[in-house]
Amino acid sequence: MFNYFNMFYIIANWKMNKTQDEAIDFFTKINSLNCFKSSLCKILISPPIIHLSAVEQYIGKVGLVAQNISCKESGAYTGETSINMLSSKVSHILIGHSERRKYFHETSLQLLEKLQLCIKKKIIPIFCFGEKLIHRDSNVFLSYIKDQLSETIFSFDKHEISNMILAYEPVWAIGTGKNANAAQIKEVHDFVREILIKKIGHSSALKIPILYGGSCNSNNAQTILKVDNVNGLLVGGASLDFDHFRKIIEIADDLS
Ligand code: PEP
Repeated sequence: MFNYFNMFYIIANWKMNKTQDEAIDFFTKINSLNCFKSSLCKILISPPIIHLSAVEQYIGKVGLVAQNISCKESGAYTGETSINMLSSKVSHILIGHSERRKYFHETSLQLLEKLQLCIKKKIIPIFCFGEKLIHRDSNVFLSYIKDQLSETIFSFDKHEISNMILAYEPVWAIGTGKNANAAQIKEVHDFVREILIKKIGHSSALKIPILYGGSCNSNNAQTILKVDNVNGLLVGGASLDFDHFRKIIEIADDLS
């Protein structure tokens, strides 16, 4: 296993799931866990934005992530949430999740605006990227990924990019129960690390966590976390059940 900083991020993305009571119950349980023997395992949870205020007082051992922000800072944008309303509550924001791209037609230009807001407000973006099945089947997935990154994060300078987290999430693996295998994950993570090295230099590039997301669970977490250049997991469905998510944390904690 080759992990540059020997630390893992385990991030739960709850999407549009859980009532407020369920969210509080989960946070209460996670704070009572004794499995955090390693301080090198960072746990973050991304509940629906509406629950952030309610769970804030229970965060303890975990950090809070927003699932989305508006690309505007304020104004007549009905239904949107500004980064200014979240900056006191979260340390990180998911940007570019494939469900936002697919169902809400978010473009690279909008993602760029969201990233700019994160940089301005000093909140760490977790930038999601990844190919669709058609790109993998036609063997153009690496160039597709390179374009996704070029249109967004590579508009920033070295210092700004160094404060981002990247998450490789192949669209065909999200919510399908069909995770990418270790060789597929290694190929993309090594490729992204190499591009980062070319763009911003060795020492800065090595500091950027590259996470994997897409049907992670307690059965495949260990194998995936052992892949070179994998610095953590973004977990959707398997993060909703507390006992299941706890097992994933324990696996990461043991490996870190
Ligand atoms: C996600 O939504 O980021 C995700 C990885 O989902 P799942 O784990 O359910 O595939």
